[in-house]
Amino acid sequence: MSATPLLEHLRGLIRAGGPLTVERYMEIALWHPQWGYYATHSPVGAHGDFVTAPEISQIFGELIGLWLADLWQRSGAPDPVIVCELGPGKGTLMADLLRAAAMVPAFRRAIRMHLVETSAKLRAVQAETLRAATPSWHPSLATVPAGFLLLVANEFLDALPVRQFERQADGWHERRVDLDAHGDLTFASDPAQSAEALAAWPTGSVAERRPTARTLARDIGERLVRQGGAALFVDYGYFPPAPGDTLQAVARHQRHAPLRDPGAADLTAHVDFADFAAAATAAGARAWGPVSQARFLKALGIDARARRLADGKDAQQQAQIESGCRRLLDETQMGTLFKALALTGRDAPTPAGFD
Ligand code: SAH
Repeated sequence: MSATPLLEHLRGLIRAGGPLTVERYMEIALWHPQWGYYATHSPVGAHGDFVTAPEISQIFGELIGLWLADLWQRSGAPDPVIVCELGPGKGTLMADLLRAAAMVPAFRRAIRMHLVETSAKLRAVQAETLRAATPSWHPSLATVPAGFLLLVANEFLDALPVRQFERQADGWHERRVDLDAHGDLTFASDPAQSAEALAAWPTGSVAERRPTARTLARDIGERLVRQGGAALFVDYGYFPPAPGDTLQAVARHQRHAPLRDPGAADLTAHVDFADFAAAATAAGARAWGPVSQARFLKALGIDARARRLADGKDAQQQAQIESGCRRLLDETQMGTLFKALALTGRDAPTPAGFD
């Protein structure tokens, strides 16, 4: 391993304080202010490290815009309405969503846009894409103003760091990141048994926990109960809960070993939808789904929208629309692994796609 500044920094931390939790490792590799992945890379898009649904097809954001407009109307059309996105990437989903929202002019006029984004680089891209909508930026949900809230987040939760635990003969042990004899990063397990209450999975299993996602679900749940509204999360992950090591690193559209070259690859792990929903319902909110992305988008009318969009386009554009939809819907691509989960306050109408 060539010693990049971030690797030297991690070595120093481990030598001084002992092996790091996987959660701490992810946090540093992604968010170190100088050498972390988000400080040094433009993650999303064909020229980035991975491609997300809004970058594949404009229909994704348009359908979500109509989903919001419908929910807003059936909630009594509150004006103003806070439309908030967590981790907007290049701002593409929000731009597509707004274009569709304009089909309900009163909804579009009522929107006050708030973006939660920690990357300065991505904030600049979003400012460019969404200039006309005059968004405000926030480092977290905590500073987003109170009021009826419609929140969306695509591929946001997977970026929040996870803790990992390994089941050994004598119980669960937290997995940590240590140094081997050459000073390279390696996984090691904490010799002490973990106090964390984990499922009765067999020896050799790996379990994951995402404390920041639980806190977020609780905060959003509390807000929705008090002030009304809904939140939509689309991400890859599992439902029901399952054991497994899902930590993955991706750089330039290729899988990468998670401990190789920290800061050079995006690090994520699958979302545990049941755990996330449970934290929101414990705060009094209602959880809907998750349903597969394919089922969600079909219920919202992706097929009809694709036909209308293709109408009058040339053959190449039509093929592009068609292959984009296939990628979003196909079982072997994003259709099943990706799932949609909605949270609402207690007396909200049933969100479209979740009945
Ligand atoms: N939603 C976009 C981008 C997904 S990438 C899309 O679908 O294309 C993850 C996004 O979340 C990036 O914008 C990243 O900067 C942001 N992000 C990751 N962790 C974050 C955190 N803890 N707080 C705020 N934003 C975060």
